[in-house]
Amino acid sequence: MSDEKNQAEARKKRVQRLKHYIIITVLTAILVPWILCIVLSIRFHALSGSVEELSKQNGLIEQQLQQAISQLQIFRAEGSDRTGEEMVPVVLQQEAENETSASMQEPAHKVYLTFDDGPSAYTEDILDILAAYEVKATFFVVGKEGADNEAMMKRIVEEGHSLGMHSYSHVYSDIYKSVENFAADLDKIRKHILEVTGVDCKIYRFPGGSSNKVSDMSMRELGAYLHSRGIEYFDWNVSGKDASPTLQDTDTIVRNSITGIEKKKVSVILLHDAQDKPTTVEALPEIIENILAMPDTVLLPITEETEPVQHIHVSTNE
Ligand SMILES: [Zn+2]
Repeated sequence: MSDEKNQAEARKKRVQRLKHYIIITVLTAILVPWILCIVLSIRFHALSGSVEELSKQNGLIEQQLQQAISQLQIFRAEGSDRTGEEMVPVVLQQEAENETSASMQEPAHKVYLTFDDGPSAYTEDILDILAAYEVKATFFVVGKEGADNEAMMKRIVEEGHSLGMHSYSHVYSDIYKSVENFAADLDKIRKHILEVTGVDCKIYRFPGGSSNKVSDMSMRELGAYLHSRGIEYFDWNVSGKDASPTLQDTDTIVRNSITGIEKKKVSVILLHDAQDKPTTVEALPEIIENILAMPDTVLLPITEETEPVQHIHVSTNE
């Protein structure tokens, strides 16, 4: 009797153990695929996030490529700026050549920022601001020796800006006394720029402009002399009026520099890079931001091929 009881007890235990096994097996069969599903879907989300990120980056690269191509076209339209072209890889040049005429159209407004009288203690700040906005400008420099000034002249060239001559001495009574005096001063500044930067400069801005009232000489004669030397001179048609004897305030310089340029095809803006002109530096970011916000407008450096804005015009034959 007790044997039977023991056997029944043992069977009951086996059945119960079997039941446990079945329950565990069924639960495992259900749970494992679920856990796998969850793990895989987490992996899938992570991967699709990466794919999205990659396609975003791809779009960004395409956009940058387009920008580079259109910049190259602007340089070409401008008669080509050598420094700019050298910076664009060959592949981009070929792509630009394949581009259709739609994007080859010239922008309606060309704006040239020009800084006279440098280098100065502010040249570095001006260059930093131009670099931050990725725009190029033109510096009409005078003869200033010394390591700091020469470093600034080199940086102007290295960063793709244009370097122009603004006389060596900037002394009106000397340079405007005779053609000989003017020529001697011109040779001096040209040689100085060549020695410091390696640039054989062909662009000039007369101290006081070609319309100055202080010259003893005929400015037409000096203009013709420059032409005979293969040099072009550039005046301005917009002035920041930052050269006033009292320090001009920042807001006025901004307003003066941008007023009316949306109506001009070409705007050459006169500003100064000088020790006593801190407000010009302060005004510069706002000037650039305003210009960059204008539709169909580009900011460019002056090159030998740029059509000059001149107060007094001298034909090449004169
Ligand atoms: Zn000047």
